[in-house]
Amino acid sequence: MLDTTLSSYGEDVFSEEAIAKYLPRQVAAKLLATMRDAKPLDPSIADAVARGMKDWALEKGATHFTHWFQPMTGGTAEKHDAFLEPAGLAKAVNRFSGKNLIGGEADASSFPSGGLRSTFEARGYTAWDPTSPAFIKRHENGATLCIPTAFCSYTGAALDMKTPLLRSVQAVTRATERLMRKFGRPKAHVSITLGAEQEYFLVDRDFYLRRPDLLQTGRTVFGAAPAKHQQLDDHYYGSIRPRVLKFMTEVEDRLWRLGIPAKTRHNEVAPAQFELAPMFEDLNLAVDHNMLVMEILRTTAESNGLVCLLHEKPFEGVNGSGKHCNWSIAYGGKNLLSPGDNPRDNAIFLTFLSAIIRAIDLHADMLRMSTAGAGNDHRLGANEAPPAVISVFLGDELSSVMSEIETGESKSRHGKSVMKIGVDTMPPLPKDATDRNRTSPFAFTGNKFEFRAPGSSQNCAASQTVLNTIVAESIDAICDKLDAAGGDFNEELQKLLQRLIRKHKRVLFSGDGYAKEWMAEAGKRGLPNLHDTLEAIAPMTDKANMDLFARYGVLSPEEMKSRHEIASADYQNRIVIEGKVALEIARAMIRPVVADEFSRLATAIGQATKDGLKVGITGLKALSLKLGAGLDDLHVKCERLEKAIFRGGHAKILQSMAELRSTVDRLEHLVDDSRWPLPKYREMLFVY
Ligand code: ADP
Ligand code: MG
Repeated sequence: MLDTTLSSYGEDVFSEEAIAKYLPRQVAAKLLATMRDAKPLDPSIADAVARGMKDWALEKGATHFTHWFQPMTGGTAEKHDAFLEPAGLAKAVNRFSGKNLIGGEADASSFPSGGLRSTFEARGYTAWDPTSPAFIKRHENGATLCIPTAFCSYTGAALDMKTPLLRSVQAVTRATERLMRKFGRPKAHVSITLGAEQEYFLVDRDFYLRRPDLLQTGRTVFGAAPAKHQQLDDHYYGSIRPRVLKFMTEVEDRLWRLGIPAKTRHNEVAPAQFELAPMFEDLNLAVDHNMLVMEILRTTAESNGLVCLLHEKPFEGVNGSGKHCNWSIAYGGKNLLSPGDNPRDNAIFLTFLSAIIRAIDLHADMLRMSTAGAGNDHRLGANEAPPAVISVFLGDELSSVMSEIETGESKSRHGKSVMKIGVDTMPPLPKDATDRNRTSPFAFTGNKFEFRAPGSSQNCAASQTVLNTIVAESIDAICDKLDAAGGDFNEELQKLLQRLIRKHKRVLFSGDGYAKEWMAEAGKRGLPNLHDTLEAIAPMTDKANMDLFARYGVLSPEEMKSRHEIASADYQNRIVIEGKVALEIARAMIRPVVADEFSRLATAIGQATKDGLKVGITGLKALSLKLGAGLDDLHVKCERLEKAIFRGGHAKILQSMAELRSTVDRLEHLVDDSRWPLPKYREMLFVY
């Protein structure tokens, strides 16, 4: 069958085709060399690139350009400048120079910097990232040319998510090249790949607007569980409702125009929960694309009368949302995490695999750190999603290969003794058998690792930066050992892998990651279990971790400290905001309704007693007792929460919120449904 081209795909991207069309040949060749092979950019081509890019953007209807970056807010940022430049009286021209393209200066004093930049030197600088192509963002009245950039301070300190990511890609690329040289492979292009599966909820906008908690915090701080939610497993992969499908097709159309390969769409486990998965791409590009996916999900929902919730836990009692990050390394276009069919390829595969296992075991704390956040605290370790203990799942086949290497004996294959690395081929791994376990935070899924701990709202750059860095360190450690060893390469490698597996196998776990027994066992094995954000981010300021990230040029100790400060402030701010929102809703929305209903009951009881009614009084009294107790309870718990907000720490606030919630959720079932002031779970999750 002949493939047909999807003509709108990538039409809003300054793609290779647009580059070829709008730039002089030599300029195009140089730019493409930078984009494809990460060759350093020749600054002398900037003006010519800018000229071509401007012509292309104007044809697309753009009036403005912006440097598009990812500050430490968790989102993206843009400040638009018109191409317009006055040229005499009542006359203007469109102008865009190489200087405009390459760098920008932003008064950035209001972005979080964690003390890296004081307000008196408020300048922040954006620097063009030519490896992620410029694109057009459309709005109702026009369009804007967006140029992906890194964002840093005057001194070059990273103030964003992209800068350390690019540095970490460089680190793992170098290490990979070094190891491949040891295997005698000719130099080839290294590509770190990411496929980010994005989960999200949709709710009708009318409900959303009547939920101050959703509006202000992205999650519901109250809401009784509906009788039916996800118990029947009838939403997962269910047929997609027409309204949602209309939304999804609009999202896909917009993504495809931006060259974002959205591929899979389906209903997720919780009611009103969905997933979008793109084809994997080069890591840096995939991260930018995921940021755009989140934005396009949000804005498209809005124009469809819906709201897209990217929070990790918008609704208590049903599944939360994650962002599975599928990661791999390709060398010269060949996936290194794909087990090969000859001994040499297998040796490479097993060496990288061992390096990754070593990295996860040694640096599980940093990997856990990379997924910390107020929202994700509700997922990790809270009896769903992956547990907060980071372990590695290999699947049965691969696990037995690893233990054969470790023990030097073959258990399963008759007749043949242990596999000799670099000499024997591995038994073929049935691909679909590698991923039965959905409870593991870090799972080998046939030809890539799937990191399942990142939260749905998080920038993938955080976890990927850590993963790249720790894997780079592990690969280097292996190379160092091989350098030091003198003997036969295959034999030395075999001994080395044997030692590595023996030392780090404690991080391997194939059982149920949610089980209590595993938590106990993990404790015995000495695997870290960092419960909440503040615990999880603490390792950032450990000396060993700061040294590691500094050694790989990914984050300096100052940058690490600043990031720790930002994460800590973000977390505490969010908890206080949630506490205040809960308090206001409880006092100003719930209490008046309960008080009113209580007093109507009291009046009715008085009247009925006066009239000498024989029936009904018992029922009225029973209800009024319950409501009255609820009202008292509400009062006490609001006072307690208020005190926690103003004097307690985050733990006290969270605990007081949970206590208040149990009272409010009980009252939800007592108060007249028509007067309950908040849309209920059974409405929000089922009516859309
Ligand atoms: P599942 O739901 O079983 O995890 P999906 O098909 O939803 O699988 O998602 C798998 C993701 O992994 C996709 O984004 C896919 O492109 C990505 N992926 C596949 N191969 C690689 C690879 N070599 N490197 C990175 N990501 C990959
Ligand atoms: Mg998945």
